[in-house]
Amino acid sequence: MGIRERIKRVWRRGAPALERGLRAVPTVNRRLEARYEEMLVPLEASLKPYRGDYPAYSRLPEQGRDRAAILGEIEELKEREEARWRDGFVSGAVYHGDAEHIDFLNRVYALTSQSNPLHADVWPSAAKYEAEIVAMTADMLGGSHAAAGEPVCGTVSSGGTESILLAMKTYRDRARAERGITRPEMVVPISAHAAFDKAADYFGIKMVRVPLDGDYRADVAAARRAITRNTIVMVGSAPCFPYGVIDPIEKLSALAQSRGIGFHTDACLGGFVLPWAADLGYAVPPFDFRLPGVTSMSADTHKYGYAAKGTSVVLYRGPALRRYQYFTATDWPGGLYFSPTFAGSRPGALSAACWAALVSLGRDGYREATRRILLTADEIRQGIAATPGLRLLGHSLFVHAFTSDEVDIYRVLEAMSRRGWSLNGLHRPACVHICVTLRHTQPGIGHTPSVAQRFVADLRAAVEEVRAHPNEKGEMAPVYGLAASLPLRGVVSDILERYVDTLYKV
Ligand SMILES: *Cc1c(COP(=O)(O)O)cnc(C)c1O
Repeated sequence: MGIRERIKRVWRRGAPALERGLRAVPTVNRRLEARYEEMLVPLEASLKPYRGDYPAYSRLPEQGRDRAAILGEIEELKEREEARWRDGFVSGAVYHGDAEHIDFLNRVYALTSQSNPLHADVWPSAAKYEAEIVAMTADMLGGSHAAAGEPVCGTVSSGGTESILLAMKTYRDRARAERGITRPEMVVPISAHAAFDKAADYFGIKMVRVPLDGDYRADVAAARRAITRNTIVMVGSAPCFPYGVIDPIEKLSALAQSRGIGFHTDACLGGFVLPWAADLGYAVPPFDFRLPGVTSMSADTHKYGYAAKGTSVVLYRGPALRRYQYFTATDWPGGLYFSPTFAGSRPGALSAACWAALVSLGRDGYREATRRILLTADEIRQGIAATPGLRLLGHSLFVHAFTSDEVDIYRVLEAMSRRGWSLNGLHRPACVHICVTLRHTQPGIGHTPSVAQRFVADLRAAVEEVRAHPNEKGEMAPVYGLAASLPLRGVVSDILERYVDTLYKV
């Protein structure tokens, strides 16, 4: 190890303690708080654009307002916000968004808005919808290849994060019950979603991070070295959120299986794309229950499943594993209680709308949507590759991350924002990504370019603009840069917490 690497290590170990010590000094703390306040002032204005234009309530209105007036106000806010995502300026976020599809889901929601799966006796339809959502998703993800004694099963959750939290809790509880593990560890690629950090934090599981290889995929040899007697689960993404690349799931899951450890494939993003991509002849490495070592998966119906926001599916190899997810209370005076997921009462209407999305699209619909998305994503990828000064990260299918060795990529991000785009700024390494959805597949009409053509033209112009003004700093670019490079991560975390505080200001 070189001297620089040694100093870095000492710093990395010592910095958190040093930081805690510094922040315990009242004057330091006061100065930090004052600085945070200053930093958040410009952000607050942009987060609260409706102040002044509309009444703001910090207490219930004395008399209830007129329904028509309320609807009018909500209609106006919707109008202000709709064009940006509708016209394809936003990365990810709205995955389908065609007006007829939305109207259809809204009708289903309206028909079922009172439904609560917690009361399966009152709304057996809710249980039917959820059972079928799980079955259809399992079938799509190689469920029929599982051994007869261990059929793939699962539950509906409120989103990808909940699916991941549930799976990690399930492995923690199984390891405690079956192997007596009280200091559980999880082996997770650094590119895996932050929801895994959240799970580690919530459930007291030690997070062991696996570095990536040159193609931004989890390094299998490093994953092998990270396993200990306390490892309860290993993770891979298909694909990961930051770079859109698929981890070597076949090797990772075989490794987990050979050590008797569970393996979770996070297909939140790719679950409803990759099966159809494979059908269409794209080279998709195996990632699902076809691999015997894969013991659980997450797949988001509210992303490429084209359901409304608020549903996802978590799947398990066999009901014995799934039971570790459930909660039961047998002594509560409120009666015998059980719930499959974290929530008690749940919105049955979202499950009904999810079911309706799945069966209204069908295999044909998903295959066709995937075909359009992958064609557009390829056009966008080629456009990025052909833009002088930009460099793509990894071999991605429909989420493309890019950086620059010549210009500040965060200033490019800003220049794109000025052109109306909402892309994702990523760090460590600094890059930007676009997650291609059906919104980006809109064709050109007459002299109006297609969304993909507009993206590529705007990107080229943005890079040129930054290149032409090398000495400008930009507004948000330094914030991104600071957040990525600041050694005191606690300070960055403080700022994020105060940002969240701001969201809750009236
Ligand atoms: C979106 C996503 C998640 C988390 O999903 P939410 O629905 O935002 O909670 C997890 N993993 C991957 C790969 C994702 O893209």
